[in-house]
Amino acid sequence: MSVLTDLIYAGSNAVAGLTEGAVNDAIAKFGGDAKVAFPDTAYFLPTIYAATGVKVTKLSDLPACVGVLKSLISNKEDLGEALNAGLATAVGAEILEALKFVDGGNPYENESGIGFVPDPIIRSLGVPLVTGDMPGVAVVIGKADNPADVVATVKDYQSKGILTFLIGDVIEQVIGGGVKAGLDFRVIPLGHDVTAVIHAVTVAIRAALIFGNIKPGDLPGLLEYTKERVPAFVNTYGEISEVVVSAGAGAIALGFPVVVDIDLGENQVAGALESVTDHSLTAKRSLELRNIKVKVKELPIHVAFASAFEGEIIRRPDMHAEISSDKKPAFELVVMRGANEVEDHKITIIGDDIGPDAPVEMALGTIVEVAGAKMQVDFEPVIERKIHHWFNYMEGIMHTGQRNLIRVRVSKEAYEKGVRLKDFAEVIYSMVMDEFSSVVDKCQVTLITDATKVSEQLEALAMPRYDARDDRLSSMTDESVDKFYTCILCQSFAPSHCCVVTPERLGLCGAVSWLDAKATKELTPAGPCQPIEKTGLIDEKLGLYDNVNKIVGEATHGAVETVTLYSLMQDPMTSCGCFECICGILPEANGVVVVNREYKGLTPTGMTFGELASMTGGGVQTPGFMGHGRHFISSKKFIKAEGGIARIVWMPKELKDDVANRLNATAKELYGIDNFTDMICDETIAVESDAVLNFLQEKGHPALGLDPIM
Ligand code: SF4
Ligand code: ZN
Repeated sequence: MSVLTDLIYAGSNAVAGLTEGAVNDAIAKFGGDAKVAFPDTAYFLPTIYAATGVKVTKLSDLPACVGVLKSLISNKEDLGEALNAGLATAVGAEILEALKFVDGGNPYENESGIGFVPDPIIRSLGVPLVTGDMPGVAVVIGKADNPADVVATVKDYQSKGILTFLIGDVIEQVIGGGVKAGLDFRVIPLGHDVTAVIHAVTVAIRAALIFGNIKPGDLPGLLEYTKERVPAFVNTYGEISEVVVSAGAGAIALGFPVVVDIDLGENQVAGALESVTDHSLTAKRSLELRNIKVKVKELPIHVAFASAFEGEIIRRPDMHAEISSDKKPAFELVVMRGANEVEDHKITIIGDDIGPDAPVEMALGTIVEVAGAKMQVDFEPVIERKIHHWFNYMEGIMHTGQRNLIRVRVSKEAYEKGVRLKDFAEVIYSMVMDEFSSVVDKCQVTLITDATKVSEQLEALAMPRYDARDDRLSSMTDESVDKFYTCILCQSFAPSHCCVVTPERLGLCGAVSWLDAKATKELTPAGPCQPIEKTGLIDEKLGLYDNVNKIVGEATHGAVETVTLYSLMQDPMTSCGCFECICGILPEANGVVVVNREYKGLTPTGMTFGELASMTGGGVQTPGFMGHGRHFISSKKFIKAEGGIARIVWMPKELKDDVANRLNATAKELYGIDNFTDMICDETIAVESDAVLNFLQEKGHPALGLDPIM
């Protein structure tokens, strides 16, 4: 036997023994009927469910799984067979971790790791992964001999936007080295036991179920999906035990290369298991092995610039300067100019720069003038909204809002590193020229901090521009345009998914409006957004068009033949998995519930967001369930075929409050109802369906008077 297969089998057999013993002990202690489940997932024990189709819910389901696990360990001298034994280790680790949760246990309460990653987090990763904003996923495990080595590597991943999961003592080493951890920073500690590695593995496995429409039990399909579409890899630090070796074999079986920092000599497997003992090369080699290409932006500014800093929060005590439109005038405006009105890369600062004495309260008018042969006025707001992201990408800068309602904070640390107004201007200039180069030829940036002058420009220049855009947007209906757009960005995860983006229905991720899609077509002509000429109307109420069917059919390679724009029950639009909200029917109330990703509780359907979401996704059409963007809820086209927004009977309170103004305006316009949201139930009123129905009857909710929904 080779040393490597020997080690793998030794680890797998050890885990198999441990697992069998632990299952028997748990049954003896809690009884076979005791519940076993991970928190906030619709996929049971995901590895077992995906690989075999078995839905584990109680302890007595587990002995059969242990049997399957053991059958995967053939002890045959063959690398392929040994990799299967690695999968057995994954199954064993999953069971051992799940046992920690038996009987409602909360094993990660006092851990620095989060343990199991809930479904909604995985769904939220969809868009950053497909856009390449998050180019890969690193699993870092073990304990570095020299903590600085792992700290540097994780910082490197962070600066590239890569999501890093930490397992073992590297957690303390990385956090102790000053790396900010948390989902917002794309560094997620999982746990200290080796078995916690399964929590990274099930993220990839659930991605296959959520986005890839892989059917539970289709093990070859699952392995192909993770290998082809999940850009993950593993780095180990320090000595590796047999169990880690066999877990690594499992990773390799899933298609994830493993880079170790000890010398494995002839036991290396090129492309799959490699030794990199020079730690400065770990990240580089890992990315090469997974063919991950990262566009690093080196900007001429004083702090780091990466999407990983987007979620950074700067609290008042850490703040050096603040621009807040609540206190002093502030606005951001992108405006299109003629070619001879713009001097490329001209930066003008009018008024005082950020001064030394904290806290500084400033006014700020940001005027970005762009010119280009292909530039259109419609692209102004598309570029303008990016300022929010770009400022947030700067380390130590926080930005919220848009237009004349904004807040920008500069941390003390960022100020000390040298951040001044010019850095903001450089960021805007560089990013406009980088991301919008096909429409912008020249760009100049003016920053005004003189409060009087900011007010003047706000009145004279910005407000009229905002008003004109609002008029344009509100007059923009599905009827008023002659084209819709496809978006197939999510096909890299959900191969048969296609969003149809119309003025009144944005993409289900919430990130792609009709204007965005139009701009994307202009920026990348052969890209994910292609025009659909609005021809061949078949049924207006359903939003059924011959040409939409044709183009969607082509875009999904024949997977979707008929799609309606406005129906939930008849050929609804497909869902990829990264939707902001899901709408599902509640037949008892003759209506629908709408639930957002952030809501954790149960809904009157008896299901959580995650469970509802698992009813659809992967690019399939599921009548009665449909993913959509938040903004779509107040649209006149929202399930128009079934009666429109009058069908909405229940929403989580936070969502209801968020959409209230727009939803109430639409209800008033469509049905003459005032304060429609007062008629919609939420979790603070009732969740149980009888009680929901009582509430609706009390309020005279319009859904009760509509035709039966099914
Ligand atoms: Fe994905 Fe649709 Fe959003 Fe495009 S619009 S990124 S396909 S969810
Ligand atoms: Zn998506």
